[in-house]
Amino acid sequence: MNRQIKNTLKKCILIMIVLISCTSISSTEEIFKNPKKIKITVIREWKPFSYLDSEGNPNGILIDFWKAWGKANNVEVEFKDPTCWAQSIELIKNGEEKIHLGLFYKDDRSEYMDFGSTIIDLMTGIYVQEDVDAFNINDIKDLGIGVTEKNYAKDYLEKNYPNIKLLVYKDLKKVMEAVDRGEVKAVCVDYHNNIRNISFYYPELNDFELLQTIYTQPLRVGVKKGEKELLTFINDGIKNMSGGEIEGVKSKWEYITIYLTKNNVKNYTLIISTIVIIFLLINTLFLKHRIAQGVKRLLENEESYKKLVKLCPDGIFVHQKGRVVFVNEATIKIIGGDDPKNIIGKSVTEFVKDDYKKNVLDMLNTVEKLNITTPTFEEKIVKSNGELLDVEMSMNVIKYKGKRAVLTIIRDISQRKEREQEKQNVLMEKLKYERLKTEFFSNISHELRTPLNILLSSIQLIDRVSDDNEYQQNEYYKKYSPIMKQNCYRLLRLINNLIDMTKIDAGFLKMNFKNYNIVQVVEDITMSVGEYIKSKDLNIIFDTETEEKIITCDADKMERVILNLLSNAIKFTDEGGSIFVNIYDKNESILISVKDTGIGIPKEEQKTIFERFRQVHPLLNREKEGSGIGLSLVKSIVEEHKGNIYLNSEYGRGSEFIIEIPANAKIDYETILSDEISSNEGKVEKINIEFSDIYS
Ligand code: ADP
Repeated sequence: MNRQIKNTLKKCILIMIVLISCTSISSTEEIFKNPKKIKITVIREWKPFSYLDSEGNPNGILIDFWKAWGKANNVEVEFKDPTCWAQSIELIKNGEEKIHLGLFYKDDRSEYMDFGSTIIDLMTGIYVQEDVDAFNINDIKDLGIGVTEKNYAKDYLEKNYPNIKLLVYKDLKKVMEAVDRGEVKAVCVDYHNNIRNISFYYPELNDFELLQTIYTQPLRVGVKKGEKELLTFINDGIKNMSGGEIEGVKSKWEYITIYLTKNNVKNYTLIISTIVIIFLLINTLFLKHRIAQGVKRLLENEESYKKLVKLCPDGIFVHQKGRVVFVNEATIKIIGGDDPKNIIGKSVTEFVKDDYKKNVLDMLNTVEKLNITTPTFEEKIVKSNGELLDVEMSMNVIKYKGKRAVLTIIRDISQRKEREQEKQNVLMEKLKYERLKTEFFSNISHELRTPLNILLSSIQLIDRVSDDNEYQQNEYYKKYSPIMKQNCYRLLRLINNLIDMTKIDAGFLKMNFKNYNIVQVVEDITMSVGEYIKSKDLNIIFDTETEEKIITCDADKMERVILNLLSNAIKFTDEGGSIFVNIYDKNESILISVKDTGIGIPKEEQKTIFERFRQVHPLLNREKEGSGIGLSLVKSIVEEHKGNIYLNSEYGRGSEFIIEIPANAKIDYETILSDEISSNEGKVEKINIEFSDIYS
């Protein structure tokens, strides 16, 4: 019994081993005999996946894929019988063909077809004509979307968007004809994520843009149901394709990616895969967490942006194709009115003053074309009540709800403009007043000088008549005539200075430039007053580093400058003091110094001493009178010579005024010798005038 049982058991085990072996052999051994040639039916019109090019040859991503597949597996792939999409399915269904070059998985298809590895991921999207103003599929529900009858999208759209108007056509050609007739403005097309310019494959879609991707599906190899060996052969063949071959297809179609699926999973691959899956799971969890955080941050950011846009005092508005699609509250305040609907949908130029419209449109076009941000520019906009408003604006291109748009920022600058205008008015008033004042000064000064000159020449005339003249004899006349003359000179100096001052203000101080030996000019005028200075019980010392220095200057004005400085030195130096006039040759320039041992000028006054009407010691001594114009005139004259004037002074110890004049003699100017400069009589008159402030 035991032996029988043992034998039976042995037999059973043997049968089981044979059965298991057979099963394992049948499941692992390749029974399918490799064909040397396979046939693939080409779909005539399914760009960019399978189509006939202009020469009638099969072309497309799938065609290239199959060519690469054939090469990698040493199998000749024959492309045959171009047909339409629907027919390609029918052929498999009827059993006339065994391989479909690539299609989506669908439940009904799985009844007559097995699906192999994924070739690429394929998108299906809705493309709309450029002039259609829409953000998503619902915005075009009444517009008419053209779709081909066998496109999976038809069922998908019917199921998920029951309210949209779908127009079904036989193929894409018919859809495009419907577009031409104006029947539809949107079409449903399959495209690949990485093929950027869809209109390259569908030139008909040149004026269309992608509105929304409706789904993404893997495009897979399809094999007639039951042809397991063929399917394995194809899938293994895909695995055999080297990276280079796949790259070849990829690079030709620019951006396609081929995802390969491995079918023969060995045990160790299973372990590795399990580890990878676990790793991916952890990674996914981690990623999920990070994405959640990111989304949170994004939402917070979005909230902040919304707040910012809401609170921003500047008007922010967004427009697409010239029409306003968004405005913030500030824009409504600036433009006027209380409802954004009054602004949204309107043309941007509606808010721009007529003569600025072209400028704004040009600017808009440039911004859109070149994708640049404009610098801030000023415009006048028209408010909702028709009033004009000065604004500052700038524009740049942004993405708004997934579409290109222009963002314009406007700032109300009407108050600033008003202030500027007010300032301008005040300035104009001031200038007008200044001009009037200058004119008045000029006129009155000339009016004063005429009678004064008559007075002075009358006194001079009496002086010149013979000694026996009864006036000359008269002791009153003798006493008062010099006083009369001196006061005439004082008045004359004051008037001359006033006239020069107004001329400087008006920019009309005329300079009579010629070439002079400046050393001689300064020495002569100093010597002319030498005796007078000595009579004041003051020492005058003249010294020079050079005897001749020809420079271009106005000798008459330079004499006045020296006399003015000497007159101040005399006025502010006590008896017994000294006055030094020195000339230093600096080659490029000449320095003229008038120095005294007088009362000096306090430090704090030195900066303002050359300003008009400034007097340091005005009430110190009524005998040292003056108008405070002298030094300012001296400075102006020196500056007319492109020179500078400096002051060194110490209060209580004396002052030194240094004039620096550039030593350049113009070759085209006449050179005047010293004895031609001015007559003695003229010099005396000048001295009388310039020294008239000094009381004897
Ligand atoms: P004024 O006609 O009053 O002399 P200036 O412009 O020539 O006007 O001089 C302005 C003031 O500068 C004088 O009133 C005087 O107070 C001061 N000042 C000018 N030169 C000297 C000097 N050499 N020493 C001291 N003070 C001087």
